[in-house]
Amino acid sequence: AHSELRYKRVVLKLSGESLAHSGERGISMEEVGDISAQIKQATQSGCQVAVVIGGGNILRGAQFSGRSSLINESTAHYMGMLATVMNSLSLQDALEQIGCPTRVMSSIRMDGVCETFVRRRAIRHMEKGRVIILAAGIGRPFVTTDTAAAQRALELEADVVLKATRVDGVYSEDPEKNPHALLYDRLSFKDVIERNLRVMDATAIAMCREHSLPILVFNFKKDGNIVRAVSGENIGTRIEE
Ligand code: UDP
Repeated sequence: AHSELRYKRVVLKLSGESLAHSGERGISMEEVGDISAQIKQATQSGCQVAVVIGGGNILRGAQFSGRSSLINESTAHYMGMLATVMNSLSLQDALEQIGCPTRVMSSIRMDGVCETFVRRRAIRHMEKGRVIILAAGIGRPFVTTDTAAAQRALELEADVVLKATRVDGVYSEDPEKNPHALLYDRLSFKDVIERNLRVMDATAIAMCREHSLPILVFNFKKDGNIVRAVSGENIGTRIEE
């Protein structure tokens, strides 16, 4: 472990489920509070933080629609994007309550609720020490917030995508099914694609690979890990080149 600041700007991808109690849906105040405290601590080193939050704790488009559904698949994806806005608003208030200035910026214009994402304004907020929470994914259906995290990280010229998960990193197999699964320390994008490893969705992986943007997959459930990830400590699985 070292304390030198490695990253100037990061995109932190949190799944919607990170705001719910394990195995439950919805938004848990306890989890929102925990994550906010960690995010605040992470910004205190001077690193600029943009959070991309999912909506899976409320609704995922692909699961919500289907052959028998009354709801069109695109509609379901838009509903998923709206779920991310609710998550973002809870995180915003929880962060501000502990004295961490925050702005929610949505990819879908929502006057009266939050700002709209404008690249240069987003950068300005971060330069002023505000955490930005990027809501509504990329604002288009049929992708997930993993893709949004990769896309925004490129646009904001972040140094890394920090993908927060419930396990310690990327494994050779599902560690929740096979306790002997191997945890990787480092992987190349080629490895991830060839071995079909579950890291982020395929579009996100392709974007990061194409632009040599590293991804760190780490366990946010271990207290202090968000701060460790942001400060470039050697945790989780690092994917690059
Ligand atoms: N979504 C979308 N476009 C985007 C981002 C998200 O259509 O740019 C929809 C999609 O249906 C997705 C849902 O919003 O399933 C919630 O996001 P996600 O599944 O990424 O949430 P997470 O798994 O991270 O909680």
